[in-house]
Formats: sequence, C-alpha cells, structure tokens
Amino acid sequence: MTFALHGIAVSSGIAIGYAHLLSHNSLEVAHYTLPKPFVADEVARFDAALQATRSEFASLRSNRPSYAAAEFDAFLELHQMILDDPLLSIGPRQMVEREHCNAEWAVKVQTDALVGQFNEFEDAYLRERQADVKQVAERLLKQLSGQPGHQPTHLRRDVETILVAHDLSPADMIQYKPQQFAAFVTDAGSATSHTAIVARSLNTPCVVGLHNARELIREDDLLILDGEQGILIVNPDKAILSEYKLLQSEWELERKKLKRLRTARANTLDGETVELHANIEKPEDIADAKENGATGVGLFRSEFLFLNRDELPGEEEQFEAYRAAAAGMNGMPVTIRTFDLGADKQIKGVERVASNPALGLRAIRLCLAEPQLFRTQLRALLRATYYGNVKILIPMLSSVSELNQTLQFIDATKQSLEIEGIPYDKEVKIGGMIEIPAAALSLNVFARQLDFLSIGTNDLIQYTLAIDRTDEDVAHLYDPLHPAVLHLLSHVIGMANKLGVPISVCGEMAGELAYTRLLLGMGLRNFSMFSAQVPNIKQRVLTTSLREIGPLVQKIMRADDPMKIRELLDRLND
Ligand code: PEP
Ligand code: MG
Repeated sequence: MTFALHGIAVSSGIAIGYAHLLSHNSLEVAHYTLPKPFVADEVARFDAALQATRSEFASLRSNRPSYAAAEFDAFLELHQMILDDPLLSIGPRQMVEREHCNAEWAVKVQTDALVGQFNEFEDAYLRERQADVKQVAERLLKQLSGQPGHQPTHLRRDVETILVAHDLSPADMIQYKPQQFAAFVTDAGSATSHTAIVARSLNTPCVVGLHNARELIREDDLLILDGEQGILIVNPDKAILSEYKLLQSEWELERKKLKRLRTARANTLDGETVELHANIEKPEDIADAKENGATGVGLFRSEFLFLNRDELPGEEEQFEAYRAAAAGMNGMPVTIRTFDLGADKQIKGVERVASNPALGLRAIRLCLAEPQLFRTQLRALLRATYYGNVKILIPMLSSVSELNQTLQFIDATKQSLEIEGIPYDKEVKIGGMIEIPAAALSLNVFARQLDFLSIGTNDLIQYTLAIDRTDEDVAHLYDPLHPAVLHLLSHVIGMANKLGVPISVCGEMAGELAYTRLLLGMGLRNFSMFSAQVPNIKQRVLTTSLREIGPLVQKIMRADDPMKIRELLDRLND
C-alpha cells in the first residue's frame, strides 16, 4: 500500500531506497494489519520462530562449553520457562488470529503484558527478571526477522538504503556515516537540531519530525525521500517512482551546473563582494568546502571531532586536526570554534546532567568550568595558528565577565607558549558568537574587545523565542522571521558594521535561500553555511541588486504582522 508522510525537510536531495529500521531497542517493531488470506501464513511464521527459538535454547544447553559456569544452565532454564509462558508461546498466536496483526507486533504486545506482571512483584529479584523477559522476546523477534521475505536485519549493500530511526543523536549520525545510507528519516527532531546540521554537512537527504514513521514502515519497504519538501513516500507505485527518478536526475544535473560557479566571485549585481564560507565538522570536510567554492571556513565545530570517543582528545591530536584544516585551506581563513559541548553534544568524561541542558553548562560556560579541557584546546589552537590563517571563535558568550575570563585564559596560554618557545601567530584574531539575546543587546561590550563577531542564528532564535531547538513538539514555533528575531539580527549587523567590526552569520539562516536577500539588505556581507549550499547561495547573490532590494527590506523591518512579513519576503525573492 502506498502512503506518504510529511515531516520537516532538513537536508535536500531526493533519495530512493529500501528502508532499514534502526531500533535502539529491538522491542521497537513495526505494526501493520494483514489481509485475511495472509493470516494463516503469519501464524505459521510465528510457530516456526517459536520452534526455532526453542531449538536454539536446546542447542545452547547441549553445547555448553566446559568453561561456562554451571549457572548458565539455570539461566537457560529460566529463559526456556519464560518462552513457554502462555503469554509468549500462545498469546501472540491468538492475537494474530484475532486481530490480523503482524507477528512481531503480537510478540511485542504480549511481552509488554508479561513485563507488566513482573513489575508487580514485591520481590526485587523477581522484579528484575523482566530484563530476562525482554531478552527472550528479543530472541524470538530475531527468529521472526530471519524468516524468508521478512525483516532481514543485515544491511543490504547492493541497493540504496534509507535509515529509519525514532531519533538519532549527532553522534549516532556520524557513526552511521561510513555505512553510506542514501538518506536519514527520523520521527523526532527539528530543523536546527545538531542532528539536522550533521545530515546537511554529510550532504545526505534527511527528513525529521515524522512522528510515527518508525512504526508505520517495515524493513525493506521501498521509500522515496524528498528532502526539499519534507515528504516520505512509502511503497510508491510505478508512476510515482518514475516521476521521482526523473526529479532526482534533474536535481543532480542542477547541482552539477551550479558547481560550475565554483571559481566565480560572489558579487552582487551592483558589484559588492560577498564572502561565502563553509561550516565544517572535521578537517576532511575541507575538500568539500573547496570543491563547492567556499572562500574560507566560517565555523569549524571542533567538538564534533571528538564525539563517539572514550577518552578526551589530547593536545597533539587536536593540534594535528586544527593544523590540517588550516593548511588545507591554503591561507584562506579557518575559523575554529572552541568546544561547544553540553546540551545535545556530550563527550565522555565531561558529561553533565542538567535539568535544562540548553540553559545549563554548555559551550564557553563548560570550558570555563573545565580549565584543563579548555587550556589543552587553546594550546592546540594557538599552535595551529602558525600553519595557516586560523581565527578562534568563542561560542555562547553572554556577559562581559565571561568574555574577560576567556581572554585571560587565551593570554595565559599565549604566555606559556612564549616561555616554551613554541611558535604561534601573535596577531591571531579572537571572535565571539552572538547567539544569546543578552549579547546581541549589549553588543558594544563584545565589539570593543573582540576582533570579529559571528551570529549563531540557531541559538539566537532558540533563546529569543524560548524554544528548545531539539524538541519537535515546539518545532513549529521556531520562526526566523519573528519580528523580534529580525530586529535583533538587523541591530547586530548594523551596529557591527557601524563600529567596523567584521560580522558574519554562521547559523542555518545563512544557508537558506529564502533569507539571503533579507540578510544582504540588513548589511551582511559574510555568510557561513554547510558546503553543499555555497553554490546555491552564490547564484542568489549574483542575481541580487542591493540598490533594488533596499526599500523592500526596510518595509519588512517595519512590518509586525507575520503574514505581511512572509508576503513581503516572497516579493523580495521573486
Ligand atoms: C548557531 O547556534 O547558530 C550555531 C552556528 O552554532 P550551533 O548550531 O553549533 O549551536
Ligand atoms: Mg550555537
């Protein structure tokens, strides 16, 4: 049956491939209804899986290695007893017959009921046995998935595969990258979560916030993912499939054409030059940045280097990574942000449990609270300045005392390098991210002491509108066009230009075509975005006349009705 799901488009492109369901918990299974003639087969499939699980236990028992503890037998016996409990051995069968549901779902429902019974026990030992129930159920589910034509758990490498998950953390996404998924689909998530940002930087189409895709889609269902419109089509018919194949090749052709702009300067029609920089997560991303024609790195999210690790990175390893990025850009600027850890990016060793992570010990706050971590990074960063055009960017500044403390750390690190005779660029530029309304509203203080500023619109919007950027329940309220956001942006860009302090935007707004002219009209001349978007934004710059857009941008700034703002923006982009 063909059906479509709508979510939030976070990384464009069209992918066509087979679903691979990711369960963090293997008791997460699909739920679907079978046509009546298939029910008997489904019952037989359950019976076969039950029998296979029994045989598996029997074989484990008879082949117990001599070194295995005798408790192993007791444990197997317990698992066999659980498997023979009527709720697991008969319940699912009856449920399939009665409700015509798939066997996996029936096993899951019956398992939940059995777990519920164990939960009621007064005795702690018995209560803990619910973990055994889950393990037995997982074995049964594994057997079910091994039946021909149903849920192969291995990844098919001969066909394009789309990963379908309830949620993916940024760390998960990086981990799955080598598996070359054609696209990512998640039930949770929002457009500016770090998961979405990673999907864009991997240049992999992605739709998030689908709510129940994980439940509705089955392993190996054929999927079409439209990362532009945020649509996922499940089991498309032939006509839809060929239409999307056509769209997919048109999209790829368009991207190839745009890449020809690689060496062109991004000049407006009136001859103003605009810098288009790339946001990267690791030194290897430099190749992509250059291929797409970026004239610098506006944001190197250094913390991504070290997610999924057991130990904290040492100075040498960090230095190598920063040096490689700096050298790779051949003298073009490479802006490296100090660790923005905390909230949705945790690193082993400095995990923090906060009641409200986005407002807690995150970014520069965490670095100042972990002096050793910060000092090590600063040493590595300063050493790398000697090998290219490295700038240091401080995230999430909110007050002058934080800024002063940070600058003292940097000075102290410089001094110790000096004493040790280690070379670094004495003129290294230090910049700050404006991503908290308090910083935007007291810009003078930051502009006076810093060499450059960069607006992190993802967080600036989150903190201005009090919307957790990782929470899909409030994703619809996340609005870059909210008049309060527009006024803050215009204020910061205007003020920085007036004070002569270089200003850029490195949040997701900088890579969205819809906002290019608006930001240009506010006076922005430096945009930093995920690499693949540089050619698109360049084309928009090349077709913009600053003189012509001026009055319309002024009109947008005077409007306070969201509908009116959108209408005017459409005119601006026409
Ligand atoms: C931002 O907040 O806009 C930004 C660029 O930083 P991050 O998305 O990594 O928080
Ligand atoms: Mg930020």
